Amino acid sequence: MILGHAHPAIVEAIVGAARNGTSYGAPTELEIRFAEKVIDLYPSIEMMRAVSSGTEACMAALRVARGFTGREAVVKFEGCYHGHADFLLVKAGSGAMTFGVPDSAGVPSATAKGTITVPYNDVAALEELFKTRGSEIAAVIVEPVVGNMGVVPPAPGFLEAIIRLCKDHGAVSIFDEVMTGSRVARGGMQERSGLRPDMTCLGKIIGGGMPLAAYGGRRAIMEKVAPLGPVYQAGTLSGNPVAVSAALAQLERLDASVYEKLESLGARLEAGLVESTKKRGVEACVQRVGSMITLFFGQGPIRNFSDAVKSDTARFGRWHSAMIARGQYWPPSQFEAAFISTAHTEADIDKTLAAADEALSA
Ligand code: PLP
Repeated sequence: MILGHAHPAIVEAIVGAARNGTSYGAPTELEIRFAEKVIDLYPSIEMMRAVSSGTEACMAALRVARGFTGREAVVKFEGCYHGHADFLLVKAGSGAMTFGVPDSAGVPSATAKGTITVPYNDVAALEELFKTRGSEIAAVIVEPVVGNMGVVPPAPGFLEAIIRLCKDHGAVSIFDEVMTGSRVARGGMQERSGLRPDMTCLGKIIGGGMPLAAYGGRRAIMEKVAPLGPVYQAGTLSGNPVAVSAALAQLERLDASVYEKLESLGARLEAGLVESTKKRGVEACVQRVGSMITLFFGQGPIRNFSDAVKSDTARFGRWHSAMIARGQYWPPSQFEAAFISTAHTEADIDKTLAAADEALSA
């Protein structure tokens, strides 16, 4: 909710669209306008499909990558979360990580076997994997800034290496920008970094708060999707007019001033948290990219899953409860990112910081 909850223009767009009908099971002009907007914002996307959740976007993108390459293996990074499709619940972050069961019950072992995991930010491990199994790999999917083990930025050269290795070995590089898309910049991490993955997954902000997500990429890859190509993917409610109206109303309002404000509020929050943890003598590390931020209760920097799990989650839990007692709803897991919206003010940040300081002291 990058513009905050119940933004009047978005509410109006939703109500207006609903008056004309909520779903047709077929594309509308509004869906085309949404697609044009996404293609305009995301440099790597030449063609796209609307779906209804980030899970669907990642699941579909990987099916297309497999169909395009004729290969089956998928590479993901430990601690990255790409939704709850069976084959992606392998060493996943977010809720799966919080409860210490990164591999969910109910996932068939045969399904999980097709997913290879590598430590985040480890270029040498990825190079080694491609050296030994390069011809089997259909795709590498990555959170270009991780939010799902807490905020972990990519080390310099890491994302570049993914794109290069995929290119050299005929695999598809996929940026899962469900969280970073229009969050770290209007055009996501690919705008911020200048990098161009083969495919991109979008969700969350892209849908203006409605069940809407998207995947897309290079034309040659996306032309494999039916009816042009042999890879099947469809959804009755995908790209419905109510959701795309909300999305358009929000995306039209994301100008440079939004990101300047979020950066400034983010920097204020980061500086305050660092100061408080030092003052209170609490071993902690604050990691932030734009308006995504995590306070890790442990020694930084956190570069990957193994670093993140060393955090003192019991201490995080006590701090979180102390925050709740002070009216502050911080994300309820050590392995989540907190987000700032344009509805927040400097006064809100200062209020959060005052509560955080008291909670640290408590
Ligand atoms: N990918 C990333 C990076 C996510 O953060 C999430 C959700 O948190 C997903 C995919 C799944 O999206 P959804 O919850 O909409 O299915």
